[in-house]
Amino acid sequence: AKEKGRNNYEFHDSDVNKVMSRNLYIENELRKAIERKQFSLYYQPIFHIDSGELFGMEALLRWNHPSLGSVSPTEFIPIAEDTGQIVSIGTWVTEQACKQTKVWHEMGFPTTVLSINVSPLQFEHRNFVHTIKTIIEQTGLDPPFLKLEITESIMKNVTTSTNVLNELREYGVKTAIDDFGTGYSSLYILKKMPIDTIKIDKSFIDDLEEHTSESMVKAIIEMGLNLNLTIVAEGVEKYCQLETLKKLNCTLGQGYYFQKPVSGKGFEQLLIRTKIR
Ligand code: C2E
Ligand code: CA
Ligand code: CA
Ligand code: CA
Repeated sequence: AKEKGRNNYEFHDSDVNKVMSRNLYIENELRKAIERKQFSLYYQPIFHIDSGELFGMEALLRWNHPSLGSVSPTEFIPIAEDTGQIVSIGTWVTEQACKQTKVWHEMGFPTTVLSINVSPLQFEHRNFVHTIKTIIEQTGLDPPFLKLEITESIMKNVTTSTNVLNELREYGVKTAIDDFGTGYSSLYILKKMPIDTIKIDKSFIDDLEEHTSESMVKAIIEMGLNLNLTIVAEGVEKYCQLETLKKLNCTLGQGYYFQKPVSGKGFEQLLIRTKIR
């Protein structure tokens, strides 16, 4: 876009066309991505803050396209959500990640808890709980070793979401509110929704050196712990952030300070090292 005057932006047709045609291209290529085996999963470890022990890992989707190269999930997930393709992609992610986790458990590694990102569209789909149960049964993973990360957007439909969360809880699957604190209904969620975990958004962790941010994180952790929730800090990048989180009794931590997401093979190496230690 070119700047025009002070506050006006004039979009050149060519700019708009470029974005539109890239999005359309991505949309079309996404349809073939599963059968062409272009998706893979990366795993980022999650650690206990007090002991430093491994708790589990978050599965993160990667798309390697022959001509686009590696496309970021922040680019293709929103497109897959707009077109509804996220439902079948999400099922693929759940199947692959549960299967892999079960294999690791059977290999005798520490029984890690697997976290998976669930889009609102998936969560709202009437078959969602059935799909989760089917995958759990097919893979033989113990339900409490699966944690579903959802966002505050599920608050659009409180009654339905509460029912789904209760069904999942009854079945034994764990749930987490991702990017906690960035929505409009964070406190209401704490009060009303049957969830197990909150993941404090990276933006709060980034600013942890600022007094205001530390007070907020402190308040979130205190409230969460009082409600018997597990608290995860996401995007931990620095030692001083970890120190503060430890002081505030945060349960779990995830971020580049510990480790970046790695391939399945890479995560297995980490499991091997954990076992020896
Ligand atoms: P998210 O769920 O908030 O995942 C955390 C993102 O932050 C990941 O980016 C991760 O690689 C990155 N990250 C972790 N630690 C740090 C850190 O210390 N510093 C920084 N700067 N970044 C860190 P990624 O893998 O690019 O994923 C981006 C988003 O795409 C995810 O955000 C999630 O919303 C979405 N996503 C990824 N995989 C899936 C999936 O399988 N299904 C769905 N529905 N969404 C997914
Ligand atoms: Ca997440
Ligand atoms: Ca997050
Ligand atoms: Ca996020």
